[in-house]
Amino acid sequence: MTEKKADYQKGRAWIELDMTALRYNIEELKKLLPKDCLIMPAVKANAYGHGAILIAKKLNRLGIKSLCVACVDEGMELRQNGIEGEILILGYTHPYRFPLLHKYRLTQSVIDYKYARLLNDYGKKLDVHLKIDTGMHRLGERSENTNLILKIFQLENLNISGIYTHLCVSDGSSAKDIQYTTAQADAFNDVLCQIRNNGFNCPKIHLQASYGVLNYPELSGDYARIGIALYGVLSEKEYGCAAKLRPVLSIKARVVCVKDLFKGESVGYGLEYTTKKNSKIAVISIGYADGYPRSLSCGIGDVLISGLHAPIVGRICMDQIIVDISDIYNVKAGDVAVIIGKSGNNEITVYDIAEKTNSITNEVLSRLGTRLERIIVNGGE
Ligand SMILES: *Cc1c(COP(=O)(O)O)cnc(C)c1O
Repeated sequence: MTEKKADYQKGRAWIELDMTALRYNIEELKKLLPKDCLIMPAVKANAYGHGAILIAKKLNRLGIKSLCVACVDEGMELRQNGIEGEILILGYTHPYRFPLLHKYRLTQSVIDYKYARLLNDYGKKLDVHLKIDTGMHRLGERSENTNLILKIFQLENLNISGIYTHLCVSDGSSAKDIQYTTAQADAFNDVLCQIRNNGFNCPKIHLQASYGVLNYPELSGDYARIGIALYGVLSEKEYGCAAKLRPVLSIKARVVCVKDLFKGESVGYGLEYTTKKNSKIAVISIGYADGYPRSLSCGIGDVLISGLHAPIVGRICMDQIIVDISDIYNVKAGDVAVIIGKSGNNEITVYDIAEKTNSITNEVLSRLGTRLERIIVNGGE
């Protein structure tokens, strides 16, 4: 029934969101964390392609009041759509845009001491979380620079409500990875001790992302910044998982044209594919501009129609793909092709696409285009 509604609303290519899966994933992940550690979902990159506003609204309704995004624009978009609670910007904001932090009550990450001074010089009180670099060597003031970190606490315009670090090999299981992660946690705890020993109140702490929660539940703080796992997948399939998760997203697209080809005729740009026998093909309205990777061209990828695999023939175009349906009975224009998700007894997962394109699910999902419409098919209330 819900599927019919989805069909009716969406013409060309669309994402279906199963919010009961989202809710279920949250409950599963909560089981791994102590009661007093709250989930702070990462809804950056349009909620990993799922649609930030729909996802954030659902999270708010589920009582989640802290979110993180990558940049000020993402934070603004959430506020403009009525999202409540704390919104932490994980990345850099240019000083020219500091007024937006104030206007939209966004919490900025302090990426080093110098940046803290810039934020302070803006002159109005700003909410911030302090980022500490404990070994990833991306953003954050270096954990060894205790003096600078303590000086940040003395800046009068910064309301430091949180302090955090990011683990860079918490997905690894080698002895080296475990040792490195433990060292990162130790360096972070040393910083926290120094803050307390110097008479400052220690703000809320957080250091785990998805893999931190799954592999190092004991490292929990006040928050866990969970992204990919919330959406019901991990970055790669072979990682074992302590939690049973359910994918939130499926992608569907319309069969817009069906035609017969004679043996020896070619298909698409570059005439890359030539039929070996009389064949039937279908044109489907989704392409690389929608984030469907072009490297799935020429039989690498496939879609599901009526529960059966239809291989992609020829090159993927910007807005369309062509598939071979010679072995699928009675396909007609208007039918729905499953790009990611289940159809009959078969399923194409985002892992399949990540593997075939030599990438990770995070990249495949976060690149899904804005042109895809997002609709809730389950658990919308
Ligand atoms: C993206 C991001 C997260 C979420 O990571 P997942 O692995 O998707 O859970 C957490 N923290 C920081 C700093 C991030 O950039």
